[in-house]
Amino acid sequence: MNKLTPQPGIMDIALYRGGAAHVEGVSNVIKLSSNENPYGPSPKAMAAVRDSASLLHRYPSTDHAALRAAIGEVHGLNPAQIICGVGSDEVLQFVVHAYAGPGDEVIYTKHGFSMYPILARMVGATPVQVDERDRKVDVDAILTACSECTKVVFLANPANPTSTMLAEGEIARLADALPPQAVLVLDGAYAEFVDGFDGGAALVAARDNVIMTRTFSKIYGLGGMRVGWGYAPQDIIDVLNRIRQPFNLSSTALLAAEAAVRDRDYVDHCRAENTRLRAWLAGELAEAGVPSDTSCTNFILARFADRDEAEACDTYLQSQGLIVRRVAGYGLPNALRITVGDDAACKRVAEAVRSFKAGRA
Ligand code: PMP
Repeated sequence: MNKLTPQPGIMDIALYRGGAAHVEGVSNVIKLSSNENPYGPSPKAMAAVRDSASLLHRYPSTDHAALRAAIGEVHGLNPAQIICGVGSDEVLQFVVHAYAGPGDEVIYTKHGFSMYPILARMVGATPVQVDERDRKVDVDAILTACSECTKVVFLANPANPTSTMLAEGEIARLADALPPQAVLVLDGAYAEFVDGFDGGAALVAARDNVIMTRTFSKIYGLGGMRVGWGYAPQDIIDVLNRIRQPFNLSSTALLAAEAAVRDRDYVDHCRAENTRLRAWLAGELAEAGVPSDTSCTNFILARFADRDEAEACDTYLQSQGLIVRRVAGYGLPNALRITVGDDAACKRVAEAVRSFKAGRA
């Protein structure tokens, strides 16, 4: 045994547990546990990945100018106010790294994304969990939890794993009432699934204490590439860039993301398919006796009678080659999070849940 002592708080970090992609002894498995795009990335992004092979002996761009310009063009944002990271996880990490440390508090909500408390602990800050109301973020509860130690407030909109959304007015109310030393992070990982939603960009533009983060891992189907971005007031971007590694994104990732963000037809197609199949699957599950809140994302939070039933259904789905996500760790023991797959996947899930419920009747 060595005598090395990790920094305070590190051993309190729970290891992030990703979803398995296989079930022992079961073939034809469909993974519906990580909210990935079932259709994969745009063919244009795949072509960009292949083309990037000729660049692999060169270091990638340090300023991501081409990708930021593309994002700026598509979203109508100033590229100078955009920062890119290794997944939006890295952009979220820049924020806690820059603004929080030992003795500071980082607020997230009860059913908030599991990385938020991990990120807080990574920098020695204290994660503060705030209650939600009916699986929805409660702005008043967040404001009550704020103190002079609050440095960062994380809020996913739409939220994971609840799939619910907070109205823009509520978010504006939160941003306006935060203590002056606190920054609000609007995590828009699922923003593209909401038709016409800007992810909070207008709120960022109108204030000096709001950051929006976005990802290429969900609607763009590039989870394996690890690209995310943030949009924030210029002075915040200037701070975040100081702690960003100069070559954080590979040439392949940069080119894939640029091609993906420019392929609007593909994004629109994926959004439309998700909207259609999400409504169909939610309807089928409800008919089978498994209700869910109206989803604003590419997953459904399926609710069961109790924890026992949710776990039994998960086990049954696995035996049928369907991997979904248990969310007890998010304070939702009675629920399972199911990614909206393609037609075949949704049909298989609907049939499997129906036979599971029939077997218990
Ligand atoms: N925020 C939320 C709400 C998420 O669900 C995820 C991925 N599960 C992320 C951020 C991080 O995504 P990525 O690092 O792949 O961009």
